[in-house]
Amino acid sequence: MLTYTYIGAHQFQLLDKPLPTLRDPKDAIVRVTLSSICTSDLHIKHGSVPRAVPGITVGHEMVGVVERTGSAVTTLKPGDRVTVNVETFCGGCFFCRRGYVNNCTDPDGGWALGCRIDGGQAEYVRVPHADQGLNRIPDSVSDEQALFVGDILATGFWATRISEITPEDTVLIIGAGPTGLCTLLCAQLKTPEHIIVCERSPERIRFVQAHYPEVIVTTPEHCAETVARYSAHGGADVVIEVAGGKETFRLAWECARPNAIVTVVALYDEPQILPLPDMYGKNLIFKTGGVDGCDCEEILRLIQAGQIDTTPLITHRYPLNRIEEAYRVFENKQDGVIKIAITPAESVRP
Ligand SMILES: [Zn+2]
Ligand SMILES: [Zn+2]
Repeated sequence: MLTYTYIGAHQFQLLDKPLPTLRDPKDAIVRVTLSSICTSDLHIKHGSVPRAVPGITVGHEMVGVVERTGSAVTTLKPGDRVTVNVETFCGGCFFCRRGYVNNCTDPDGGWALGCRIDGGQAEYVRVPHADQGLNRIPDSVSDEQALFVGDILATGFWATRISEITPEDTVLIIGAGPTGLCTLLCAQLKTPEHIIVCERSPERIRFVQAHYPEVIVTTPEHCAETVARYSAHGGADVVIEVAGGKETFRLAWECARPNAIVTVVALYDEPQILPLPDMYGKNLIFKTGGVDGCDCEEILRLIQAGQIDTTPLITHRYPLNRIEEAYRVFENKQDGVIKIAITPAESVRP
């Protein structure tokens, strides 16, 4: 089968590999019907994910149809349409029982798919702990509607959940990339007083203005004054930092009011400075880290109910056999790209 494979730093390649097989009774084999490219795939490509294993098939955002299940899989059967969770988790360890599935202590726990084990930019994928990692897609929800449930939408949902947003709040979201936009959609469900999105790219600012006209948009240069205008207590009540830029962590805590929650979802290329003397007395609450992707069933229910729609984020579509072109567009942010859906390979006629 066709797979997009991490060869080594700065090198991905379309390779033919054998079909995956069941290795554990808890495994399932899923035929991938739609996958996507994530910024984390680019981090692997650029060699900044040391735990990524050369030779693995990349891709950790996908939906598909269950082909086969191991004998210990109880909640799914062949033929089920499913979303695949970016995180593998056992469901039974100390962290899983508390919903902290990102820190599952299973050897495959955490972000394994498309990083330490073969992922979904392929025709088929083996999913360990399938009862936990797969969620059935309701019949009325399309593959495109469900595509981001297991990764960036799970991240946005988790980020807004742990940020404890109330209807009185002014919420500042820093970054309007794909994950920032998913965070925005999930923040809207909490109906805060104001949502302010801070973004540098004129193209992405236009995207937010066109699709979410009720949202206040600002730039890093004007962020502090915009936040001051729309907040009653000297800063945002909740700040969610999704950008991961050079100055965005500083912007996040500076724009927060005293006692605010500052949730840091962003993945930085460099260490960040936490200048405690400067923020002394502000009494901020920082929440950090990688998604606990354990809300996928609820997210699917919200999509089915028409309360979350991420389909406008899919700006481009490419078949698997042309995935190299798709990476070029995504990596260079060409042509107004937000997200790319990778469809099954086209048969190439001689
Ligand atoms: Zn991702
Ligand atoms: Zn676990």
